[in-house]
Amino acid sequence: MQINTAQLRKEPVGAERNYKIDELAGENNDNRVSGEVSLIRTNRGILVTGKLDADIKGICSRCLGEAYKRITFHMEDEYFPLIDIISGVHLHPAPEDFIIDNSHVLDLNEAIRQYIIMSTPTKLLCRPDCPGICPVCGHELARGNCSHTSGSSDHRWDKLEQLKKESKV
Ligand SMILES: [Zn+2]
Ligand SMILES: [Zn+2]
Repeated sequence: MQINTAQLRKEPVGAERNYKIDELAGENNDNRVSGEVSLIRTNRGILVTGKLDADIKGICSRCLGEAYKRITFHMEDEYFPLIDIISGVHLHPAPEDFIIDNSHVLDLNEAIRQYIIMSTPTKLLCRPDCPGICPVCGHELARGNCSHTSGSSDHRWDKLEQLKKESKV
């Protein structure tokens, strides 16, 4: 999301604007991001705060199928201008700072991309009770049992089970 900050930066320190966000962002723009951010004029630039939700897509750590999850993160970053809005003087923010460009535009996309990466759990599940895959043949157990998982889970004990049954008769 790109926001022109020219008007806000002509206002006194503490002036505030709120913006609703509902758009595609993140790596390759494949996360729907929604929520609200607040931009506050500081003596050096603009402070952006907000709470956003993002829909992420990944791989289930049990069955390797597609997994979807909604994450929530809080933003808080100060953006520094390349040009002083009043005097037109060029400024020199540090290389690691988020910047407001020569057209006074503040771009939230890079920050959002970083927050999504930081907030994404390392292990996703396609559903909380995903049964995973058969360790022998790789069959997806959500589709039902395979020959390895129906009945006894370990065939080495089949003979013993058989003997037990017979001895009971
Ligand atoms: Zn799964
Ligand atoms: Zn199997």
